[in-house]
Amino acid sequence: MNGMYEELIEKLRKNNRMSGWTHIDRLMDDAIKAIEALQQENEQLQELAQAKAEGRLVVLSTPMIPLVESDDPMDSDVYCPACGVSVSGGWPDYHPDLEWKMCQCPHCGQSIDDTKTITREAAEKALGGVSDGN
Ligand SMILES: [Zn+2]
Repeated sequence: MNGMYEELIEKLRKNNRMSGWTHIDRLMDDAIKAIEALQQENEQLQELAQAKAEGRLVVLSTPMIPLVESDDPMDSDVYCPACGVSVSGGWPDYHPDLEWKMCQCPHCGQSIDDTKTITREAAEKALGGVSDGN
C-alpha cells in the first residue's frame, strides 16, 4: 500500500513539472483514495493490535467450514463437516446484536461457519479430502 502512495506522489510531481496543472486534480484524487485506504488499513491493524493486547485475538488453526446438511430430506439436522456428528442445537442461534460468533464442533473441535450449509461432498473437498464422514 505504501508503494501505491509513493508511486502516485511521484506521478504528481512529474506531471506538475512536465505539463503544469492539467492532471494534478485527478492525481490528487487518486492520492487521496490511496491515503484513505491506508488509513482504513491502519485502523484495522490498530483494532487487531488492541484485540491482541486485550487477549481477544484468536487465530484459527484451520478455516471455518460450513455446516453439512443431510442427503435425507426427512433429516433436518446439521452435521460437523469434519467428524460428521450432528451439531443441531449445539450452540445458541444467531442473534442480531452479535456480528458473528465462533462455533466449534464439541466432538472434534472443527471451526464451523454456522451461517451456511454445504453438502458432505463439498465439506470433504474443503477439508482436502480428509474426513472420517458419517
Ligand atoms: Zn466434529
